[in-house]
Amino acid sequence: MNYDLIVIGSGPGGYVAAIRASQLGMKTAIVEKESLGGICLNWGCIPTKALIKSAEVFEYINHAAEYGIKVGGSEVDFEAMIKRSRGVADGMSKGVQFLMKKNKIDVIMGTGKLKSKGTVLVSTSTGTQDFTAKHIIIATGGRSRELPNLKQDYKKIIGYRQAMILPKKPASLIVVGSGAIGIEFAYLYNAIGTKVTVVEYLDNIVPLEDEEISKQLARILKKHVISIMTSANVESVDTSGDLCKVQVKTATGTETLEAEIVLSAVGISTNIEGIGLEENGVKTDKGKVVVDDFYQTNVEGVYAIGDIVKGQALAHVASAEGIICVEKIAGLKPEPLNYGNMPGCTYCSPEVASVGYTEKAAKEAGYEVKVGKFPFSASGKASAAGAKDGFIKLIFDAKYGEILGAHMLGHNVTELLAEIVTARKLEATGHELIKSVHPHPTMSEAIMEAAADAYGECIHL
Ligand SMILES: Cc1cc2nc3c(=O)[nH]c(=O)nc-3n(C[C@H](O)[C@H](O)[C@H](O)COP(=O)(O)OP(=O)(O)OC[C@H]3O[C@@H](n4cnc5c(N)ncnc54)[C@H](O)[C@@H]3O)c2cc1C
Repeated sequence: MNYDLIVIGSGPGGYVAAIRASQLGMKTAIVEKESLGGICLNWGCIPTKALIKSAEVFEYINHAAEYGIKVGGSEVDFEAMIKRSRGVADGMSKGVQFLMKKNKIDVIMGTGKLKSKGTVLVSTSTGTQDFTAKHIIIATGGRSRELPNLKQDYKKIIGYRQAMILPKKPASLIVVGSGAIGIEFAYLYNAIGTKVTVVEYLDNIVPLEDEEISKQLARILKKHVISIMTSANVESVDTSGDLCKVQVKTATGTETLEAEIVLSAVGISTNIEGIGLEENGVKTDKGKVVVDDFYQTNVEGVYAIGDIVKGQALAHVASAEGIICVEKIAGLKPEPLNYGNMPGCTYCSPEVASVGYTEKAAKEAGYEVKVGKFPFSASGKASAAGAKDGFIKLIFDAKYGEILGAHMLGHNVTELLAEIVTARKLEATGHELIKSVHPHPTMSEAIMEAAADAYGECIHL
């Protein structure tokens, strides 16, 4: 079969690209070596959120008395939690299978490799086969990054995959790395009764976030008895005994921490080895495939999207890249992606959501800023919901009122962030946010109030 497009990898970058290509009339095939939907649906975004939901339900039940509800003793059925999460992931993967069929996309199960320009070699347990296409998109995603002094044995020193399917709830867990993945697992396990310590190399947890958000989140997590060590480096892990002994170096010396399991959450490595890039002269740089604004590599007809290219390693970024790449191939005129307006979320409780410049980055970029904040403790909806932790912080350019950044910490704030992404896309100003009437009572009123605070017009503070 000769295709217009073959996509290697069926994560959110790959399968979305394939669907858009099919909508645009291209005869399309997708090659996948494991499960349709990639890391996102099977081992990332979705199964973690299912586990986190279980933890939240447990927390709600334990705090039911605060809402005037009496509940008898509750306990975590860890095995059932894992089973539910796997079921949710399987359901989503089957959904992608349905979408492939609906869009008449051929699914080729096997390991794909760029054989030559226009040819993909697919290997399965029964043999190999060549498939040809005018265009080939590589979307092979990433895997848990391994550090030399934190080699994963997948039993005691684990990565994110094992953390989602542990055979039993660990009594204690050390999470190394406090980006979104590390903090989500720290929240999850702490909520279900595991003793959790987070070790972060940099000065703040969730280090990409605005410093005020990082500091406030750290205070809240500490209140939930998560131990947090920042500016701390894991030097070695001894797994020979019942408990792992972790040597951690800080400014004050070296400490030994003990835990049943160590979770390495220090980022991802890209799957760019062994897929024919070198043989075909496809340029890579620092573990990423080099592409132009429309995801074309230096080899004509070969494209790359998702975690394996520049930009944030996030599912929605991968999908957006897939759509742009395919629209360009089809001769449409898509706009290049504005990586400065990509939302980022951490689904601990309270949640973290942000887009655009942090206050520090805006100042470093030379902006004179106006900053507005509104705490959820002053929000009627947050009080009614018993979710008063956190705040919204908005950063505006003092000269023109451009929304430079939004930083949110609070209950369900990941659902609020899209308002700011849209406002920024439409080049709205601070005053336009203030004059957009928000429904009452909602958590979203905090956005309007934070904007008003920046201009000295806040009503409820
Ligand atoms: C624990 C965790 C939680 C996350 N949570 C979020 C979140 O909440 N929100 C968010 O936006 N992002 C989240 N991410 C990141 C998100 O999962 C990734 O950014 C996203 O999945 C990247 O999509 P992708 O299309 O590049 O590839 P992936 O989703 O990584 O998929 C790549 C696919 O390619 C396949 N493949 C690889 N090599 C080959 C080959 N040679 N032949 C055939 N198939 C191949 C793989 O089997 C895989 O199915 C999370 C990640 C992790 C690990």
